[in-house]
Amino acid sequence: MKARPARKRAAENGCLTVVCGSMYAGKSEELIRRARRALYAKLKVQVFKPEIDRRFDEAKVVSHMGVRHDAVPVTGVEDLRAAIEDDTDVICIEEAQFFDSTLVDLCVDLADSGRQVVVAGLDQDFRRRPFGPMPELLAVADEVVKLRAICMKCGQAASHTYRTVDGRPAHWDDPIVLVGATESYEARCRRCFEIRGGPSSRARSRPSRQ
Ligand code: ADP
Ligand code: ZN
Repeated sequence: MKARPARKRAAENGCLTVVCGSMYAGKSEELIRRARRALYAKLKVQVFKPEIDRRFDEAKVVSHMGVRHDAVPVTGVEDLRAAIEDDTDVICIEEAQFFDSTLVDLCVDLADSGRQVVVAGLDQDFRRRPFGPMPELLAVADEVVKLRAICMKCGQAASHTYRTVDGRPAHWDDPIVLVGATESYEARCRRCFEIRGGPSSRARSRPSRQ
């Protein structure tokens, strides 16, 4: 297919969409859905992911249910900027929480230049604190899609990612990367979320309302 001239794209309005939520919320599926829609519209799409995400497959975005799409692994924001081709209309970025804060300026530049930018990432870490560049991205986005998973303990809607280390709730002071420990993550609702230490353990010890 012949590439569309860059001039045509500049006449169109760019847009920055941020897809966020906990683990298992469906962020990857939503990103892939949007990438596929754009392909049906005969737009040129590039999908990127940080190289750190080796969960399932090196050069693909793969959802927890196995929905997949080709993705270019990049080592950081400069690598990502350099990999974007001039005639690309839609840029999708997976696991955005792992990039540094310069991702925000890149996304704004891209949207200003008429591109559609779709960024997916965890809005909160295992402490329920804003994760990496996500809060800033949410602030400057045109569109925010916040998804919720199902709490793996009680079945209610879940906004949090609960981390266990060697079968116990993670400690507030645990590092993000733990060497030699077995860790896992679950989607949890507000009531079922657990962490040892930190301010949220004090909040949970409040007496329940009558
Ligand atoms: P994310 O990128 O937000 O981690 P994915 O798009 O990879 O999420 O996976 C979402 C899919 O995972 C859902 O469509 C569903 O089939 C499956 N799934 C597994 N566990 C859960 C859960 N606890 N809540 C919701 N969906 C879940
Ligand atoms: Zn719950």
